[in-house]
Amino acid sequence: MKILVSNDDGYFAPGITLLAEALARLADVTVVAPERDRSGASNSLTLDRPLVVRRAANGYYSVNGTPTDCVHIAVTGLLDFTPDVVVSGINLGANMGDDTIYSGTVAAAVEGYLLGIPSLAVSLTSKAGEHFESAIRVAVELVERLARAPFGEAVLLNVNVPDLAPDRLRGIEITRLGKRHKAEPVIRLATPRGEDAYWIGPAGGAADAGPGTDFHAVEQQRVSVTPLRMDLTHSTQLARAREWLER
Ligand code: MN
Repeated sequence: MKILVSNDDGYFAPGITLLAEALARLADVTVVAPERDRSGASNSLTLDRPLVVRRAANGYYSVNGTPTDCVHIAVTGLLDFTPDVVVSGINLGANMGDDTIYSGTVAAAVEGYLLGIPSLAVSLTSKAGEHFESAIRVAVELVERLARAPFGEAVLLNVNVPDLAPDRLRGIEITRLGKRHKAEPVIRLATPRGEDAYWIGPAGGAADAGPGTDFHAVEQQRVSVTPLRMDLTHSTQLARAREWLER
């Protein structure tokens, strides 16, 4: 088995090193990740300049681009093989509900999925990063499961692991995405040169967080696994849109 590992926190982040080392015990692992923290980069491709790939002393490839760039160039030319699985992470911080729209962690997995490869995005749900070992165990377990029992169709799984010791986790739950309240206000600043500046604030708290959602599972100390799709069509609104056009 050949696994492509990427992330959005950067190729030097603890989460990607621990993930790559753990997966290397069951597969050939190649790491291609951004040269700096690109959290929040979403599904962006760099089209206005070439991307430079460097090889670190530990063999990891770093790219001066986005998470999407990393997976895209890895699969479409950098590597001389097609990975069997793409794993993105372990992200430091949750990617639940609306976070998935902005997340670079999810975006790296999305790119794998769009290129036809089973893909996982794995996040540890607290910025404290105290229990990466829990997220590592879950990532390894899910990759082993994919190898043993192929999903049967294209699959993109968004995985959020509570930042708790492994023996405090209460199983894995298949969930849907919840929703957050609207984001906190921007923070207004002045630059040293007296210009107005704005720093985008944190995401809002959970709003739709009832049973069955990713937020609820994590609140209950369970690992949340949400199968995602990329079709943005609002299927149930097609009829209304056609009717509206007739008015
Ligand atoms: Mn990140």
